[in-house]
Amino acid sequence: MDYRVLLFYKYIKFDCPHQFLETHLRFCNENNILGRVWISNEGINGTVSGTHQNIEKYKSEIRSYPEFADIWFKEDVHDSHAFNKIHIRIKKEIVNASFGDVDLSKTGKRLKPEELNELYESGKEFVIVDARNNYESVIGKFKNAITPDMQTFRDWTRIAEELEKYKDKTVVTYCTGGIRCEKASAYLVEKGFKNVYQMDGGIWNYINQFPDKYWEGSVFVFDERRIVTPNTREDLKHIGKCYYCGKPSSYYINCHNQDCDKLLVTCDECKTENDYCCSDECRKSSNRRTRNHG
Ligand SMILES: [Zn+2]
Ligand SMILES: [Zn+2]
Repeated sequence: MDYRVLLFYKYIKFDCPHQFLETHLRFCNENNILGRVWISNEGINGTVSGTHQNIEKYKSEIRSYPEFADIWFKEDVHDSHAFNKIHIRIKKEIVNASFGDVDLSKTGKRLKPEELNELYESGKEFVIVDARNNYESVIGKFKNAITPDMQTFRDWTRIAEELEKYKDKTVVTYCTGGIRCEKASAYLVEKGFKNVYQMDGGIWNYINQFPDKYWEGSVFVFDERRIVTPNTREDLKHIGKCYYCGKPSSYYINCHNQDCDKLLVTCDECKTENDYCCSDECRKSSNRRTRNHG
């Protein structure tokens, strides 16, 4: 079947999220749109799936709101729904940042994919920083990127302190679709960083145009696909390493001891050989998950 997965966001002062929620939920139910949409006074953030035809209707529906008339959709072809429910929520923020009020009118300058290539090829000194979490950057990143130790996006304030030494340098931030970097880069600007850029449209926008170039490995996504591997060059496909044998992989499991639940990159063979457990101790646990899902 011909399905589409849509990813979109927009920061905008949005006055009536409650009213929007009701109409939007009805629209999704009537048109079999599934996924997750967060709305707040600061804007909208969603990932949804549906048939090609219904997704076209969905895009027109969103764009019919003047606030979202020029919203940018990242669209992927898929062979089924990527979600099994629809969740629409009113949130305080459209990404959990909790930085306090960052001025979103003073974000990092937008860097286009071709401009990032130029930067790499110019030989100029620059720092490129991943604004995503550990489990995302472990399986994919831009060439030479700094991948800070982040458990959640809330850690960015601490990371910004660690990045102080680059205050006078060119600093480029990136995340999956750009939504986190609007805040992350604005935060750096606020802390006095002199030359901050954000990857326009995030990793997606880059790899759509330039696969097999400066992006290395896979991309963690927040729907049932979980992992997308955009590169075709063998040496650029996987940068994650199997927890057991070290072989390149982008595949994740949670340790099947539910008291442990550790997230592990594994290869296909090792995962079965080790009974989906991170250690002998976990293998002996009485609280092990049944083995019908990853
Ligand atoms: Zn292995
Ligand atoms: Zn374990």
